[in-house]
Amino acid sequence: MHFVDAKGILTTSGGGCGMNIYRGCTHGCIYCDSRSKCYQFTHPFEDIEVKQNAPQLLEAALKSKRKKCMIGTGSMSDPYMHCEMELGLTRRCLEIIRDYEFGLAIQTKSDRILRDIDLLEEINRKAKCVVQITLTTFDDELCSILEPNVCNTKRRIEILKEMQRRGIPTIVWLTPILPFINDTRENVGQILDACVDAGVKGIIDFGMGLTLREGDREYYYEALDRHFPGLKKKYIESYGNSYELPSPNSKELMALLRKVCRKNDMLYKPDDCFNYMRELPEKYEQMSLF
Ligand code: SF4
Repeated sequence: MHFVDAKGILTTSGGGCGMNIYRGCTHGCIYCDSRSKCYQFTHPFEDIEVKQNAPQLLEAALKSKRKKCMIGTGSMSDPYMHCEMELGLTRRCLEIIRDYEFGLAIQTKSDRILRDIDLLEEINRKAKCVVQITLTTFDDELCSILEPNVCNTKRRIEILKEMQRRGIPTIVWLTPILPFINDTRENVGQILDACVDAGVKGIIDFGMGLTLREGDREYYYEALDRHFPGLKKKYIESYGNSYELPSPNSKELMALLRKVCRKNDMLYKPDDCFNYMRELPEKYEQMSLF
């Protein structure tokens, strides 16, 4: 990793604020969009750029804000990589968000988030906290191939349940769904059942598929060659150089998602989920504990 002094930390878009404390990621997901060329990394993706002045920048930004809002983090790199345990920058930023009584929508795949559960609870009590967890692959062995350097789906489901016990609402990112790999009714069904069990507020999916672009595509195809011999050829025959790679089962899987969500009163339209994560009502009703 290497350290930089960033010029700013908070970005504003669509009524919400976002921040990324780190740049790059070490979780090693074979399908990672963040490593695409369009993001113009000037350092290797795994050589994490640490915005060492993130807490100071955040505090200055929140101090000068007239209106409280939800602050999103984790969309471009996970706030709970290994280095966070040593650096504690995510934790420091959460303390500032708590102290200034802003809301938080934090996204991760890592169980290291449990270290900060005390802060998440406090933020949820004072304002609002939404925890977003990505679940793609129920089978442990397959999960360890697709997302090799982070805890598996079973463990992530435990995180969701812990949040449920604490009354902290959760959103699940059921994405990406990789054609010919995890795009089965069995896989998606098992994840949906777990979401119901953990009382998640909503599930985000963009049509049961994968997107690939320059940089990300090469990395993904190399991983296919290593772990799924012959599959790259099938991808190229099926999708060519397309940006969007919908699963051949997308219709059936989307119907299943809608059915399970409607039956269990969970949000399933991405816009509804995003709106929920951007809203910081004056009087926020916390979820009941059970
Ligand atoms: S956790 Fe997200 S940013 Fe990190 S490697 Fe996986 S997909 Fe990429």
